[in-house]
Amino acid sequence: MAVELPDGPIGVVGAGTMGAGIAQVAAVGGLDVKLFDVAEGAAVAARGRITSYLQRSVARGLLTDAQAGAAVSRIETAGSIEEFDNCFLVIEAVAERLDVKQGLFTKLADICSPDTVFATNTSSLPVTAIAAGVPQQERVVGMHFFNPVPLMRLVEVIAGMNSSEQALAIAREVGSRMDRQSIDASDGPGFLVNRVSRPFLLEAQQLLSEGLADAETIDRVVRLGGGFRMGPFELSDLVGVDVGYDIAKSFYALGHGEPRWRPSGIPAQMIAAGRLGRKSARGYYEYAENGSYRADDPGPQMVESASGAVDVIGETQLAHELRRLAEAAGYAVSAPAGVPREITIDARLVTAGRDIDLSRGPVAVLCAGNSLAAAARGRNIAGFHCLPPLGEARAVEITRGSGTTEETLTITRHFFHAIGKHVIEVGDGPGLVLGRIVCQLINEASFALQEGVGSAEDIDKGVQLGLNYPRGLMAWRDAIGSAQIVSTLDALQREIGGDRYRAASALRRAVLEGR
Ligand code: NAD
Repeated sequence: MAVELPDGPIGVVGAGTMGAGIAQVAAVGGLDVKLFDVAEGAAVAARGRITSYLQRSVARGLLTDAQAGAAVSRIETAGSIEEFDNCFLVIEAVAERLDVKQGLFTKLADICSPDTVFATNTSSLPVTAIAAGVPQQERVVGMHFFNPVPLMRLVEVIAGMNSSEQALAIAREVGSRMDRQSIDASDGPGFLVNRVSRPFLLEAQQLLSEGLADAETIDRVVRLGGGFRMGPFELSDLVGVDVGYDIAKSFYALGHGEPRWRPSGIPAQMIAAGRLGRKSARGYYEYAENGSYRADDPGPQMVESASGAVDVIGETQLAHELRRLAEAAGYAVSAPAGVPREITIDARLVTAGRDIDLSRGPVAVLCAGNSLAAAARGRNIAGFHCLPPLGEARAVEITRGSGTTEETLTITRHFFHAIGKHVIEVGDGPGLVLGRIVCQLINEASFALQEGVGSAEDIDKGVQLGLNYPRGLMAWRDAIGSAQIVSTLDALQREIGGDRYRAASALRRAVLEGR
């Protein structure tokens, strides 16, 4: 529903990290803004920070001098909240406390017109709970921005249980004036974007506690194999290990003990040890004075020579991509039966020990629907895992079992080097590292979708614009195929146990219907 915005300014309460960013994008978008903060001088200081930010944008050629000047002149700092009487929308970005937010809106209800829309930028409190007790509570909505606001072009518009369509439409329209894409989410833990991204860190912590790889290796797999800009542990250090732990606990409580959201025990111990991330110079990484904490990622893998015949077994998109890359690298992929194979890449979803023919040379099996242990049963076989689109992946994971020889592992490594991929060795398990994290992300997104938290299109827009994911989770689901995702989740549930890995029924039905 498109709406015409009422006359008058918008109000922003709280001039900290988020409030200043919100005021800035509103003013750049041509809206008049009143900015207030309880802390003496905070609003004026925020206006100063916005001015310097916009001057840097002018220096970089992103804005003209006149545009920057006009934007700053649209921001008026208010000495008291009473000055918000003519605002048609007030966005709050104050402390993350229910009583503070509720108290603020209740006070504003006395000052503003009954039509004024109240939007909360909360990231963890239910919008419906904030609205409760506020006069005309149908005017209360969520407008959830992403940090840093000027760079993240997304706003999640959240409908509380009693929010009116009119109030939501005004929030969306203001979001679009601010040059943000708006997506719709219903009121629930983490709304849409923070909910579907929950497994990114939780699953990584689970892998760490099971000893499949260390934090640096997990991050490297996620960056090089998945194309994410940052791994889960570097991100956790940036956000703050303590902040992340609070969010994890709040999710678990709001979800009434949902097993997928059970917090890891790792951060509690780190917090006790004072390892809070970048702010304490030590978290999952140690930060040097110059800010460095890990080695730079390697450039493209040197392509090694390829010769002889290889077999790639399987009919998944991944198997087809592997065949194409092997052929392009110079391998014969459809050699006659009698010809010995350099290696057989078994990319079927589930491979059981007896299906694996070792008579034609070494074999590496895809660890998706099985761990290597379950597939190889102690025989001399290597494991590997990667996800489509393989053309965009810079690394492939490999693993060894009790029977895997060094020679088989070397031949496996050489095959992936020949098709231009880095190779990272990790411990064994269904999906290895990346498959497990990404399948759980897609699973969470599928739960959110089937529960009506948001649309498939908004999930994809949300994670790309709000979190810089390399692709949308629903687009990734379609590239990998629901069959491979469910097969990995089922194997995790079988081998690791617990309800954490139960597949969303939307995914399972897609497999049953052959979609
Ligand atoms: P912040 O601490 O940087 O800023 C909060 C500001 O609000 C402070 O300047 C404080 O003085 C002021 N304030 C507190 N109570 C007030 C009141 N009653 N009236 C007026 N001003 C008041 O915090 P932030 O990171 O900007 O977060 C603000 C809100 O945005 C929180 O609800 C937070 O959950 C949410 N949020 C934060 C992020 C993030 O990454 N920082 C992202 C999305 C949403």
